[in-house]
Amino acid sequence: MNRLIHAAIDTHALRHNLKTIRERARGARVMAVVKANAYGHGLVPTALALAEADAFGVARLEEGLALRAAGITQPIVLLEGVFAPEHLLEAARHGFDLVVHDMLQIELLEESSSPQRFLLWIKIDTGMNRLGFRPSEFATALERIRRLQPAPLEIRLLTHLARADEQDNVVTRQQVARFKEATQGSDYTVSIANSAGVFGTLPLGCDWVRPGIALYGGSPFGDRTGVELGLQPVMSLETSVIAIRQVPKGETVGYGGAWKAQRDSVVAIIAAGYGDGLPRNLPSGTPILVGGQRAPLVGRVSMDMIAVDVSELPDAHVGTPVVLWGNGLPVEEIARHAGTIPYELLCGVSQRVPLELR
Ligand SMILES: *Cc1c(COP(=O)(O)O)cnc(C)c1O
Repeated sequence: MNRLIHAAIDTHALRHNLKTIRERARGARVMAVVKANAYGHGLVPTALALAEADAFGVARLEEGLALRAAGITQPIVLLEGVFAPEHLLEAARHGFDLVVHDMLQIELLEESSSPQRFLLWIKIDTGMNRLGFRPSEFATALERIRRLQPAPLEIRLLTHLARADEQDNVVTRQQVARFKEATQGSDYTVSIANSAGVFGTLPLGCDWVRPGIALYGGSPFGDRTGVELGLQPVMSLETSVIAIRQVPKGETVGYGGAWKAQRDSVVAIIAAGYGDGLPRNLPSGTPILVGGQRAPLVGRVSMDMIAVDVSELPDAHVGTPVVLWGNGLPVEEIARHAGTIPYELLCGVSQRVPLELR
């Protein structure tokens, strides 16, 4: 059968990756980060498959609401907190835990009429310079949070690493040192590590880890694949060959004539393009798996199609299954060809691509 493009989601691999992360994180609890539609893997099915996760981290209130609507009962952490009184009420109604990273959010809590008590994660900015209280503001923020009425259910502390994907980076050491210094003398539960922190070489000493990409089998490191970290790819982006054509030497393929046949060639046309989330800037030569074997992309990526030189694959025919990334073709490798990171490719799979749970 001629299958159109779909993203096969391997729920067994998801659970394997969670287990691998747990082992690496030596007893730390795991907040599975499922923002951005679980990095393109489907928010609800991913969360349902990760029944063993200790909590879920999301970026948006709506993502939390979707999880609760699907019956998810684990703690749900809004990683950017809330910014409006009505969102605070909504968060209270659904029992979300909140990250607090700004004095305005503390004011929101102080002025709230809600009788609900929240579990609050105070975010400290140790060098990322995105969200969080500076170490010098932390004592004030903590004091105001401790005085909230009603009192918080619990206070926890987190920070986010800017360069944990680089081996043994001095900035990471500095961030951890700043975090330890700012939080010295308190015995709150803490969280530092994202995926790179979990698989990096520095001992971070966390109560909670917050993996995203690693859950999906992707590597946070530029020089290693997820498979090399003991992870399994969760998404395989699959499609099939929809036409085979002979391209005589000297003719070009696709828009702009960007690739010219250097010999009489056999080219397979494949049903996938930038309309599905394949980067348009993938160059000729990018590997594509056709019937399980690598063949080079030729010419420009179009909206719905790509072309692949299958001159060396005489068995390729209409209907031959194709893998764009996933099983047998690491997403990291495709990301490198596109000049990006696996995160962007996975999140960028477009809405028209159906997810298929395996
Ligand atoms: C997205 C995010 C993570 C997960 O990062 P990965 O690199 O995908 O592991 C962890 N913590 C916070 C605060 C995040 O926003």
